Amino acid sequence: MDTPVIGVLALQGDVREHLAALDAAGVRAAQVRRPEELDGVDGLVLPGGESTTMSKLAVLFGMAEPLRERIRSGLPVYGTCAGMIMLADKILDPRSGQETFGGIDMIVRRNAFGRQNESFEAAVEMPGIPGGPVDGVFIRAPWVELVGAGAEVLAEHGGHIVAVRQGRVLATSFHPELTGDHRVHRYFADMVRDAQ
Ligand code: GLN
Repeated sequence: MDTPVIGVLALQGDVREHLAALDAAGVRAAQVRRPEELDGVDGLVLPGGESTTMSKLAVLFGMAEPLRERIRSGLPVYGTCAGMIMLADKILDPRSGQETFGGIDMIVRRNAFGRQNESFEAAVEMPGIPGGPVDGVFIRAPWVELVGAGAEVLAEHGGHIVAVRQGRVLATSFHPELTGDHRVHRYFADMVRDAQ
């Protein structure tokens, strides 16, 4: 089987870190900015950053609708932090006009873990990922208030849901791309391979 190509939505956010993590996870990584570039990828990462800005830029670059369509038709997608927000079917306290791509039947609360200076690092148990807890970096991180019947909770921290999967769509509140631990990226790469 061909090595999968996994794109990183490169409108805003920590794109470089994801490209490096994907590289380390053994797949081909590519930046995606335009709708045509979506056609060339087997999976896509939505980076951390600022979901309100990402939402505006996605509309401006004509990416919002094509992306929604690709997610609906089964493109594997992984969102970290702001990327998780973009994958929520519903968000609490959005900025006015803020849109998401959707893909996971969940309600996400933005900035739920507090402000920038309340950012923290914690060991997160993710039973689906072998080799012990994952190093979770939480930066103005969201949490998941509620998941629908089709979504599977993969991890919780402090009683709050911080990792969710629904079919081919994966989301974490935290940023594995900022640690040297590439197990979550590898897990996503396997999801992409399974979908090929
Ligand atoms: N709080 C940010 C948002 O609303 C997300 C922060 C992050 O991605 N580190 O988009």
